[in-house]
Amino acid sequence: MAVLTVHPVDHPMLRRKASRVSRVSAGLRTFVDDLFDTMDANRGAGLAATQVGRPWRVIVASVGDERLALVNPEIVRASGAEVADEGCLSLPNWFGPVERATEVTVKGRSVDGASVRRRLRGLLARVVQHEIDHLDGIVFTDRLVDSQRLRFVDPRSPEASRLRAS
Ligand SMILES: [Zn+2]
Repeated sequence: MAVLTVHPVDHPMLRRKASRVSRVSAGLRTFVDDLFDTMDANRGAGLAATQVGRPWRVIVASVGDERLALVNPEIVRASGAEVADEGCLSLPNWFGPVERATEVTVKGRSVDGASVRRRLRGLLARVVQHEIDHLDGIVFTDRLVDSQRLRFVDPRSPEASRLRAS
């Protein structure tokens, strides 16, 4: 188990486009475990490899009982649209409204190298869109529907307990 350092939004890694992973190895599986540990330690709903300084197309997400790790994730279908508050572990305690598809079909590989194709809805769909953006060097603040509505939420406030960053 290892909790990695999450880089802040002004770190150059957050603007870097990540490379496809050509081979799923034991080292990659260990890295994915570390991504989960880092996400959990920060009470996040998702995390992308670029946020911890690795320029690889790897993401993890966790919403409710669902825990998902995807290598080379790609959205192949998206439908619906919803604006909701979003936050990022690279910009702790700041939240703002972002429009995302409400339902996406994502494909990629599991950490075992198997092909994965999943239809996701709701918060999990939102988190996966946010993480794939990270792999392309895009941060949620680039997508705010209204930049005036980016706001700091006191981590001790009741509202903070309802919001999940990724
Ligand atoms: Zn993020």
